[in-house]
Amino acid sequence: MSEVEAVASSWTTGTVREIERFGDSYVKLRLEVANRHDHVPGQHYVVRLRAPDGYTAQRSYSVASDPADPLIELMVECLPRGEVSSFLHEVAEVGDELEVRGPIGRWFVWGGTVPSICVAGGSGVVPFVSMMRYARRMGTESALTVVASAQTRVRLPYVEDLEEFGALIALTRENHVDGTGAERVAAHIYPDELAGLSNGVERAYVCGSAGFVSFVGRSLGEAGVRSDVVRVEQFGPTG
Ligand SMILES: Cc1cc2nc3c(=O)[nH]c(=O)nc-3n(C[C@H](O)[C@H](O)[C@H](O)COP(=O)(O)OP(=O)(O)OC[C@H]3O[C@@H](n4cnc5c(N)ncnc54)[C@H](O)[C@@H]3O)c2cc1C
Repeated sequence: MSEVEAVASSWTTGTVREIERFGDSYVKLRLEVANRHDHVPGQHYVVRLRAPDGYTAQRSYSVASDPADPLIELMVECLPRGEVSSFLHEVAEVGDELEVRGPIGRWFVWGGTVPSICVAGGSGVVPFVSMMRYARRMGTESALTVVASAQTRVRLPYVEDLEEFGALIALTRENHVDGTGAERVAAHIYPDELAGLSNGVERAYVCGSAGFVSFVGRSLGEAGVRSDVVRVEQFGPTG
């Protein structure tokens, strides 16, 4: 898959076909997008909400689904008083039609073959889930190493998919037991862990909050990863 194709820029309709809420933390929306262009794993959509008085608010959301999935899957963290995330969590229902635009992004994309390490904090795992699903379908899982961090297991979306993929899960407020029974004591990601996992990678993707991407950027540097192969996507208030 080319890393620069699949860019769409006009607004269209995303009809909510499935919705799943995970407590107060996350909401998963699966949308049927009209006039859809296939995305490249790593790309995102913009969702625009419109009030009856014409006021609009728009936010970016990464795609979690495989490009071959007939629906576009978004996983949205529910932020207290967040304008768009609260609406999607509390109000959106199956059958609703959302205004969407996408897929967007030419830089933070993975075409399926370049050996890469992906490091995510919290909702930052979403674009990597699309990469994992694509890698699995293409049989290129060995090209992708995933590290995901969150405070606790329940705060980490797609934790079962990550565990099944063999991702390193770094929880900061509770210990984590991996599939082999090995226990990782609660702690932030260590540069030593990244050094061990980034041997031979040609690219590093980092996604999460501003504080997280800055911390991981430094840790990757300490782990010997060159800054020119690091691609960063920051989820934050300006999204
Ligand atoms: C390329 C891109 C992809 C993104 N993909 C995803 C995704 O897959 N899933 C997802 O949940 N989010 C994602 N985001 C973040 C998303 O665009 C919004 O910023 C987020 O949903 C908050 O919007 P809101 O309208 O609910 O909150 P707002 O009304 O904008 O803000 C409410 C409060 O939350 C704070 N805030 C805003 N955004 C964040 C944040 N991300 N983390 C912590 N505090 C915040 C604000 O400072 C404010 O205090 C992405 C952002 C970008 C730029």
